[in-house]
Amino acid sequence: MKLDVSRALKQPGESFPLDVEQAIAPQVISGEEVRFDPVRLRGTYMALEGGNIAVDLQLTTRAHARCANCLAPAQADVSEPIEELFHLGGDPEDSEIFVYSGQEIDLERLAMSYAVLGLPMRFLCKEGCAKAPAYDDADVEVRLCQEEELPGQRPFAALKQLLATKAGENADQRDKG
Ligand SMILES: [Zn+2]
Repeated sequence: MKLDVSRALKQPGESFPLDVEQAIAPQVISGEEVRFDPVRLRGTYMALEGGNIAVDLQLTTRAHARCANCLAPAQADVSEPIEELFHLGGDPEDSEIFVYSGQEIDLERLAMSYAVLGLPMRFLCKEGCAKAPAYDDADVEVRLCQEEELPGQRPFAALKQLLATKAGENADQRDKG
């Protein structure tokens, strides 16, 4: 969704409350599809001198994927803090930053990026499925776990690392600015 920030732009430095739901499309991560319930974004936003918009939000949603051990449906609650800047007139092709023009910021990519950032390293259908099978008892574990093929380990680790690095860089930029 697009958020109209015209009021904030007229009163730089003043913070405005925000509490919205943003639907986001399923994401394919390392070959695994992850679906999300509507993402709730709750917190505040503020226009800075110069026109950039700072958002300070808490993202919550529930993600659905397959258990990393047995491939049964699994879900995970996601809760992720967001401190970001929307850069006025920034290059829309620049995937490293959030940009806007006019008087609206688009919350969809923000919600998607941070929902993915908040995903667990592995989805598990239940606690009993937490133990990754060792080589010598793999047969037993697989049988207990619905006799299905084991997927790759930690499919989200690489992406999570990437997004964490990006989020850190953005925070640095804001501190300096
Ligand atoms: Zn399982």
